[in-house]
Amino acid sequence: MSQNIVVQKYGGTSVGSPERIRQVAKRVAATRAEGKKVLVVVSAMAGETDRLLNLAHEISERPDRREIDLLLSSGERISAALVAMALHSIDCPAISVTGRQMGLLTDNSHTRARIIEIDGERVRKILKANQVVVCAGFQGVNEQGDVTTLGRGGSDTSAVALAVALKSDICEIYTDVKGVYTTDPRIVPEARKLETVSFEEMLEMSSLGAKVLQIRCVEYANRYKMPIKVRSTFDDDPGTLICEENPDMEQPLVSGVMCARGQSKITLKGVPDQPGIAAKVFCPLSDQGVSVDVIIQNVSQEGHTDISFTLPKTHLTEAMEVMERSGKEIQAAEVIADSHIAKVSIVGAGMRSHAGIAARMFDSLSREGINIMMISTSEIRISCILEEKYAELAVRVLHDEFKLGENDSEKPSQSAENNQKAM
Ligand code: ASP
Ligand code: MG
Repeated sequence: MSQNIVVQKYGGTSVGSPERIRQVAKRVAATRAEGKKVLVVVSAMAGETDRLLNLAHEISERPDRREIDLLLSSGERISAALVAMALHSIDCPAISVTGRQMGLLTDNSHTRARIIEIDGERVRKILKANQVVVCAGFQGVNEQGDVTTLGRGGSDTSAVALAVALKSDICEIYTDVKGVYTTDPRIVPEARKLETVSFEEMLEMSSLGAKVLQIRCVEYANRYKMPIKVRSTFDDDPGTLICEENPDMEQPLVSGVMCARGQSKITLKGVPDQPGIAAKVFCPLSDQGVSVDVIIQNVSQEGHTDISFTLPKTHLTEAMEVMERSGKEIQAAEVIADSHIAKVSIVGAGMRSHAGIAARMFDSLSREGINIMMISTSEIRISCILEEKYAELAVRVLHDEFKLGENDSEKPSQSAENNQKAM
């Protein structure tokens, strides 16, 4: 049920200077002039969160996470107050609110808190009085009333959560790009903006490193089926709609090519092929909070096998220390690290119903002489681990292979196969 409420979130670059804040205010006031009730969510001004974090690290080697949260939350408060002032200066009534004032309750995990509920009483009142409410994104309070933040990029999640709480029809996310692209335009200049992307595709894309939306925001939107529109603050392009998959959607076989750098790989050679070995390898890692991505284990030969897995490069030193220990314990022949790898993936809802996509991916990489070290798949994604120096080439080759730069990118054929699940 629509209550004529529009939620508009503006990112850091969109509020990056007084001039830009004035531009945002104009857009907000224009939306209100159409008779809509506007709830604005803002990020900190571009670079502000990093600046505050650097300050914290100048003062202390290990700053307390509760204090980090109080510090970082100020970035969004600054933007919210300035946007409200900019609205006043063009005669648009507006009130800014913090996480506490909007009643955004989170759990206790400082610097990566999860939203428990939004009371929203206050913002509802403000909207009812036909005033714009400008919410400081990225923050809430826990049950003790301490300020918490929702993790980097968390204002996206604040916006979707507020849209859900207010039963808005859609959550608009304004940023410095036109929408979601088939791949990073800095790698492939022909990259094309997508009209629509399904929640599931966007979940894969965000977890593969698409920076445009925080993954938690997409999870939240998917859980409550809240459509998201990603569009640019700086032009009138309609942007990209992220919503539930429906038959009218353009459904190319492959929607995007993603590239994750900053990956590394650890291989344990010659480990005994016995029950409990994998647990001995991975439990100590998870105890250390190291998150592992792709895992492969070979078929065993004469009772021994090899295990390889990938993880973020930033965790490699820590993980190698753990692995040296567990390697000895399970009597692995050797533990090897490789920090020059990348993960290149293709994502597309059309894969669910079509076979042969993986073969095409591998074939086009092999034509360029690119070696695939590991492969992992989901229903709508195929990822290859390869040498980092080939990452950009691989992205270009795959973007080309699936004709993603062309306006009429490859659609699944309308054969009966279309409705069957590929095995
Ligand atoms: N200001 C925070 C960050 O830079 C949150 C956000 O912008 O969404 O991560
Ligand atoms: Mg952001």
